[in-house]
Amino acid sequence: MNKWRCSVCGYAFEGEAPPEKCPSCQSTCSFVDANCYIPDCGGGSI
Ligand SMILES: [Zn+2]
Repeated sequence: MNKWRCSVCGYAFEGEAPPEKCPSCQSTCSFVDANCYIPDCGGGSI
């Protein structure tokens, strides 16, 4: 599972690939890869 985040509204999504349209803001936004390199993800990979 990969994590994605909407660059417009910040909606978080988990899945193989990001959705074409954001289910939250309904815009065709670009989902950014939000796998474990954000401070609050709790993964502790670093
Ligand atoms: Zn969105």
